Amino acid sequence: MHDQEAAVTSVTAEDYRLPTSVTPERYEIRLSPDLRSFTFAGEETVAITVHQPTAEIVLNAIELEIDRAVVERGERRLTATAVELDPTNERARLRFGETLAAGSWRLTIAFRGILNDKLHGFYRSQYKDSAGQIHRVAATQFEATDARRAFPCWDEPALKASFKVSLVIDDDLTAISNTAIERERRLGDGRKEIVFKETIRMSSYLAAIVVGEFEATEAVDVGGAPLRIVHVPGKRPLTNWAREIGAFSLKFFSDYYAIKYPGDKLDLIAIPDFASGAMENLGAITFRETALLVDEKSASRSELERVADVVSHENAHMWFGDLVTMKWWNGLWLNEAFATFMEMLAVDAWKPQWQRWVSFGVSRAAAMAVDALHSTRPIEYTVRAASEAGGMFDILTYEKGAAVLRMLEQYLGAEEFRKGISLYLRKHQYANAETTDLWDALEESSGQPVRKLMDSWIFQPGFPIVSVRPASGGRGLMLSQRRFAYLPENQPNTQLWRVPVMVKVRTDGGVSTHKILLNETEATLEVPGRIEWALVNQGGHGFYRSRYAPELLDALTSALAELAPIERFALVNDTWAAVVAGLTPLGEFLKMARLFRDETDLNVWRALLAAFNYLDMVIEDAARPALQARVRELLAAAAARLEWTPQRGEDELQSQLRAIILGALGTLGADGDCRDRARELYANYGRDASSVERNLVPALISILAYNGGEAEYREFKENFKAARNPQEEQRYLFSLASFRRLELLRATMDMTLSDEVRTQNAPYLMHSLLNNTICREEAWRFLKRNWDKMIERYPENSIPRMCEGIIALVTLEDEVREFFATHKVKQGGKTIDQHLERLRVAVAFRSREGANLERELKG
Ligand SMILES: [Zn+2]
Repeated sequence: MHDQEAAVTSVTAEDYRLPTSVTPERYEIRLSPDLRSFTFAGEETVAITVHQPTAEIVLNAIELEIDRAVVERGERRLTATAVELDPTNERARLRFGETLAAGSWRLTIAFRGILNDKLHGFYRSQYKDSAGQIHRVAATQFEATDARRAFPCWDEPALKASFKVSLVIDDDLTAISNTAIERERRLGDGRKEIVFKETIRMSSYLAAIVVGEFEATEAVDVGGAPLRIVHVPGKRPLTNWAREIGAFSLKFFSDYYAIKYPGDKLDLIAIPDFASGAMENLGAITFRETALLVDEKSASRSELERVADVVSHENAHMWFGDLVTMKWWNGLWLNEAFATFMEMLAVDAWKPQWQRWVSFGVSRAAAMAVDALHSTRPIEYTVRAASEAGGMFDILTYEKGAAVLRMLEQYLGAEEFRKGISLYLRKHQYANAETTDLWDALEESSGQPVRKLMDSWIFQPGFPIVSVRPASGGRGLMLSQRRFAYLPENQPNTQLWRVPVMVKVRTDGGVSTHKILLNETEATLEVPGRIEWALVNQGGHGFYRSRYAPELLDALTSALAELAPIERFALVNDTWAAVVAGLTPLGEFLKMARLFRDETDLNVWRALLAAFNYLDMVIEDAARPALQARVRELLAAAAARLEWTPQRGEDELQSQLRAIILGALGTLGADGDCRDRARELYANYGRDASSVERNLVPALISILAYNGGEAEYREFKENFKAARNPQEEQRYLFSLASFRRLELLRATMDMTLSDEVRTQNAPYLMHSLLNNTICREEAWRFLKRNWDKMIERYPENSIPRMCEGIIALVTLEDEVREFFATHKVKQGGKTIDQHLERLRVAVAFRSREGANLERELKG
């Protein structure tokens, strides 16, 4: 059932893959970056193997000038007679006029390039120190296909080679690369040469170079590898947290995989400008500052969790991704899904009290929200040109992929699963593998038909909804599956999955658990005794939604206390999804929500509030007061119970819950008392930061912004500029998009194109503005007007993410559709179609429920 796209006949493999006649074995690269002129000069000698005699060598290069290319073998030395650069295919063709015989050769190329400002390839970044002085940094970001901007190379993941890097830099600068420094010498002209040790065999996208005024923490030894946090001067106090989780997770993974860390050292490096969250360069992982540097004392739990997540994720890649790599970009999902899965596992082992797998429910639900679209794609998806790889870094690759792996792990058993992973890594280390290689290893370790089970999840788009009703005769349950989609199908869908269903049942004989593999449309689960209630998807690990016959739903909602938090979460989330799909009346959901007023779990509340936020997005302005009243009613009991100050002995989940309940009450609920109290507390916080519990601070900021005027706006903007740590900077920056006064929001719009906001953040600020119901129409017009500027200015990978903001433009659907019909987004993959379909879903919901909404909310 491999969902292959029809081959485009005019495109041949040659158009998007390098010829295989010549492959690299070892690169020796010497680069001299100049941080004043933003240029660099380079020379490389590559040990190559010529497999078939050829008179030309084709490799990847873009934005590089090639001055000279020579091949040598023993006494033979040939200089390229022609160097053709092909910017469209990002290649260089070196012609030698004579045929190179098969065997080993050395290729030497001299070249020049630029330190660009697009946060990819070899790029520049800058920051101001506390005295206001500007400092410059040069850094690399190569995944997926930008190593070719730094040096000519065979820039495909399967063409692994070792790298030996040397850098010539100013005497007063520091440089970091994948490996430890072998030697360093002064050149006497104000510059020095640093030579790094040779790397293991790895893909070109994993090479890394960072140059600037960096400082490093003292190394912690983790199983023989020194681990450091590297940062620009002055940020040492923000490194402890990352050092702890960095050391913990590295040790955790070497135990889990039962393989030693493959590098000779590990630096975790915070870069002032960074396009994504982090990048798993072997031994030199780069991060945006918010994902690595954090003040443990003032950060909220979710800010701390973000650092723990990202550090663990990248460390997991050192084996899964770096030591063993996908053959081609269609296998990217396995790298990313697996690292996401491992990130949860490590963080859960580090802080079990965080209940990381329960909060993963939120990510699973977000993936389902995309995967319920007709414009979704299978997890593993055909990637022909490498340039299409950029479209693969999405929620389906990461979150759906991780959720499906978690489902498999739970089905096989944690230890069987671990053994299979370890086997897979040992078999393919220093080389490349495909998805089926993992299934083979898991089948070998578990003795189960893993491939058959997983094919239906990996190669099919979408996921099923499992419906359950009492079996006729009252002897158990009837389970059935069909594809879940928000919008009606054009034709009947006959897709089937092999669904490992876990069912928890209470009968007069007590509570029991049943496991059934649902691989047909319907199956009967026999349960002895009279069923009091039944819950499908016990433990919440399954990547499917559940739907209950009315009598089963009634029974289940009267037994909420007997369900685990993740099961209550799934019940709320599944019911809400059915409402959005038009399968369940809104009134039923609102009635059910009332049963959760005494709910104590953070993530269940997140699911409830997500539904009310959605209503806030689609509702007519006139109905908003009714929505606000309903939110106040829903939250009243929880807010009264939690109060504004920490209670003796409470855990962190409770203080986080307080923050989201009070935050929602003061914004979505527009509660006046809540607003006044928040103002009072925020004023105290200004005088004494320790007077407010740290999880509550972001909630106070959001309430003040929501209700604030010019004075608050000015203050928050100042705080953004004077922030003491990356998290504070983020909080205040994004608060500027959640005010409710148009003239203030216009000022924020202007900031998205000014130098006040880094291009790594500006697209996300724009996203927030598109979601703000006060300014969304105007933000959309602003975006249209400035589209070309944005495309030119923002990192390429952030454009599809910025555009996600359009899902809130419920009054502008036609206009939005028209715009994207003529403005294609590079690297968007299917994501723009998905955003447009989500908008369609919201508009359909609005027109279906619109007239009744106000009445329903008052009911
Ligand atoms: Zn990753």
